[in-house]
Amino acid sequence: MSPIPVATRANEMHTVVSKWRESSAKIALVPTMGALHEGHMAHLSHARKRAENVVVSIFVNPAQFAPKEDFDRYPRDLMSDARKLYFAGGADLIYAPSTNEIYPEGVVSKPVVDGPAASLESDFRPHFFGGVVAVVEKLFRQVEPDFATFGEKDYQQLLVVKRLARQLDMNVEILAVPIVRESDGLALSSRNAYLSAEERKIAPALFYALQDVAARIRSGHEIAQAEAEGNAALLTAGFDRVDYCAVRDAQTLRPIREFTAPSRVLGAAWLGKTRLIDNIAV
Ligand code: AMP
Repeated sequence: MSPIPVATRANEMHTVVSKWRESSAKIALVPTMGALHEGHMAHLSHARKRAENVVVSIFVNPAQFAPKEDFDRYPRDLMSDARKLYFAGGADLIYAPSTNEIYPEGVVSKPVVDGPAASLESDFRPHFFGGVVAVVEKLFRQVEPDFATFGEKDYQQLLVVKRLARQLDMNVEILAVPIVRESDGLALSSRNAYLSAEERKIAPALFYALQDVAARIRSGHEIAQAEAEGNAALLTAGFDRVDYCAVRDAQTLRPIREFTAPSRVLGAAWLGKTRLIDNIAV
């Protein structure tokens, strides 16, 4: 038994949400892929501050996984997620649709590799933002939330979704949620569960490397050199491969030559079969 109401069909979800709307209550959506952790719970409290009613969606979106990625082994446990939400103060509704409910015509997405989606994740996961945009647009149209939370953990995704919300003219305000970290600095992620004990010890080095790059840039080091040093530090720490360690403009994610405006250091690196991403503000 779920301690929180669960809707698996869009029309069931709609019946509940329409009732709330009659009393002009604000509605916030927290989109997730489940395997919830404290990072997701931070979204719950952000959502609560702005809206009387909170819908947490749990949907492992096939459109954002390439064929050889971890879609099949991605952790799924709806009852455990529902309990976590309950003990964290509760959501008002869990929306856990089937793939057919989101993609009745089959899984479709158009590539999105421009604007803030250009490079970084798109260089390594070219299908990714197309999949994200497909599911987020669908969820926005189905739930019609006043607010939706997205994590800075996936900073590039946050910017892509902000742009999508502007393009859709849907009056949904995107709330950015800061990164929740373990005590050793590792950003919480559902994928951390894949790490072996040995890999888990190495994992926080991603955060430390990004911090070092940020410190170098603040003290006037050349950007390309700081990026190269970050890259090398990750390999020395024990990462098997680095997809990128890059300094970008915080608004546009375009490469920068000099540190003159708010910037972001973003990194993606592999420990065995697990790909970790993280980023920090400069
Ligand atoms: P996911 O279930 O991994 O798709 O994440 C759902 C939402 O939670 C996304 O907006 C993520 O950016 C966000 N999120 C994931 N990890 C964290 C974290 N450590 N701190 C804050 N938000 C997070």
